[in-house]
Amino acid sequence: MKAMILNEISSFAENREPLHMVDLPDPVPGDGEVLVKVSACGVCHTELDEIEGRTPPPRFPMVLGHQVVGKVIETGKDTGRLRVGDRVGIGWIYSACGKCRFCTEGNENLCEEFTATGRDANGGYADYMTVLEDFAYKIPDTFSDSEAAPLLCAGAIGYRSLRLTNMKEGQRLGLTGFGASAHLVLKMVKYKYPESEVFVFARSGKERAFAKELGAVWAGGTEKSSPVKLDCIIDTTPVWKPVVEALKNLRSGGRLVINAIRKEDFDREYLLQLDYPRHLWLEKEIKSVANVVRRDISEFLELASRIPIRPEVQEFGLEEANRALVELKERKIRGAKVLKL
Ligand SMILES: [Zn+2]
Ligand SMILES: [Zn+2]
Repeated sequence: MKAMILNEISSFAENREPLHMVDLPDPVPGDGEVLVKVSACGVCHTELDEIEGRTPPPRFPMVLGHQVVGKVIETGKDTGRLRVGDRVGIGWIYSACGKCRFCTEGNENLCEEFTATGRDANGGYADYMTVLEDFAYKIPDTFSDSEAAPLLCAGAIGYRSLRLTNMKEGQRLGLTGFGASAHLVLKMVKYKYPESEVFVFARSGKERAFAKELGAVWAGGTEKSSPVKLDCIIDTTPVWKPVVEALKNLRSGGRLVINAIRKEDFDREYLLQLDYPRHLWLEKEIKSVANVVRRDISEFLELASRIPIRPEVQEFGLEEANRALVELKERKIRGAKVLKL
């Protein structure tokens, strides 16, 4: 099969073509696994973190990609839930032990044996991939393959972040950063909590205008003070300034949820501006989001088909993966980037 593989860590400043097109043997489904013929794979900011070494694969070569949509074309031993011909999605969670305290309580994202698709096991930047059938989800008919792909990560993690805010109907939510995940959260909130107001903090005027178009009651720059204090805020940026600036906008007892797998280092010093009484006192909380559980993905797909949420996508060929990644790195974003196979 054709696959785009990563052989080593490098930075985009030095290497704009980190992935290489190769021929690999077709994977064979093991016990409990299915073989999926990939038809679309979303391109995610996490791939940049993998390539640049912030969350590196443990071995090379590795096939990246964790927003995978395709058809089951073969089933391994001890399968039964999925059949040949089923259209399925695969997200960031590739496997977990299934036995530990975290797994049995539905927090398999925190399992010590958690593995990630396209980092710890070959992912969807390829013609085929194998996955345990319990970690593949049926895709509602509402969506095309390309539309479904970005929902599997940005959407599912956005759903989890919203769940972790503990937000209730009527409460005020802030979003700092307004990329793929945040704009999906805004759509979810408008549907689930119609009485709630959403405030958006974003660097670019375009993003702020887009937020208001989608129903945000207010949008301003990252460092701005919101006109009222907010019950909860979700940060989806890769940097530190928005964290510090968001905390001042929380009401007493409010919660900031950081939805980022890693933060970049360049503005770390901004943390020195953290002022305890202004930013943290009065029982403000900070909580990070780690990975997703299967429940987040399946519940979100169902919710997304009801709303419905239709992500705008920009399609690339598999061989154009490097260009899609460079554009993402340079923030040239027109809809979610998807490799169409
Ligand atoms: Zn992702
Ligand atoms: Zn476990």
